[in-house]
Amino acid sequence: MRFITFFVFYQWLNVLTYSGFENEDRISMLKQRTLKRVVKASGIGLHSGQKVMINFLPHVADGGIVFRRIDLNPPVDIPADAMLIQEAFMCSNLVSKETKVGTIEHVTSAIAGLGIDNLIIEVSASEIPIMDGSAGPFIYLLMQGELVEQDAPKKFIRILKPVEALIDDKRAIFSPHDGFQINFTIDFDHPAFAKEYQSATIDFSTETFVYEVSGARTFGFMKDLDYLKANNLALGASLDNAVGLDDTGVVNEEGLRFADEFVRHKILDAVGDLYLLGHQIIAKFDGYKSGHALNNQLLRNVKSDPSSYEIVTFDDEKLCPIHFVNVT
Ligand SMILES: [Zn+2]
Repeated sequence: MRFITFFVFYQWLNVLTYSGFENEDRISMLKQRTLKRVVKASGIGLHSGQKVMINFLPHVADGGIVFRRIDLNPPVDIPADAMLIQEAFMCSNLVSKETKVGTIEHVTSAIAGLGIDNLIIEVSASEIPIMDGSAGPFIYLLMQGELVEQDAPKKFIRILKPVEALIDDKRAIFSPHDGFQINFTIDFDHPAFAKEYQSATIDFSTETFVYEVSGARTFGFMKDLDYLKANNLALGASLDNAVGLDDTGVVNEEGLRFADEFVRHKILDAVGDLYLLGHQIIAKFDGYKSGHALNNQLLRNVKSDPSSYEIVTFDDEKLCPIHFVNVT
């Protein structure tokens, strides 16, 4: 089953390669996007180990990204808002009036990667299914729903001056930049983490995200996993949804998908975390040993200083410094 999913996923990547990005000469506004139709899937929860249903539904223009807990009666909506993030062990949790949805960062990363502005994500449990530990399966599922433009301008948050969040030696910094560039550095003293593979940079677009970032899996140390499982956590974690590390190297038989898969996954997480500002960001992001909590603190620092950003739209989509996949 996993093989089939990936086969189809990579087939779709080929389609993306050949789809043109050049339009005719007419000027057209860059519009918001949602899905054309509902997509349903299921997977297992990383912490519960139980089956979780996930449905992607079209949402109205300016509706934003909304999670909906359909296992509750009545269902509860939780908007993907940076101010609702609570620090959680190993993942980002959104919490609204005591209702929680956890492990959201890989699906929000895929949503950001495709430039989707408005979407309802129904889940049948308190956590998003982990799938294969990357954003690849979510990209594939969302493409099944077909992207459509909506009659409203796509909004961006343009960073106007440097904003930073610091904890100990960890850093997350925004600076003005005409595009969305992500630089990330991790620092692990471990045989699997070669020095030259601990930093990466991407100039974000749908193409770079899908090809260079979306397939990078989460990772963890086997000795931590044993401890977590003994404490009833990470019950769904396995080598099918993470890169496992022992004292000497990677445990997974298939090895790594990229030589620098670990830092690419940190970029994937950052794209998902940062999308909770509500719109695509136009800025440079520098992360040094950053994680979900620090990324979220950076967003709070932006929000607390209205002079640090502005909301912009593009009457001529060709002037947008970020490329998204074409919608036909
Ligand atoms: Zn992650």
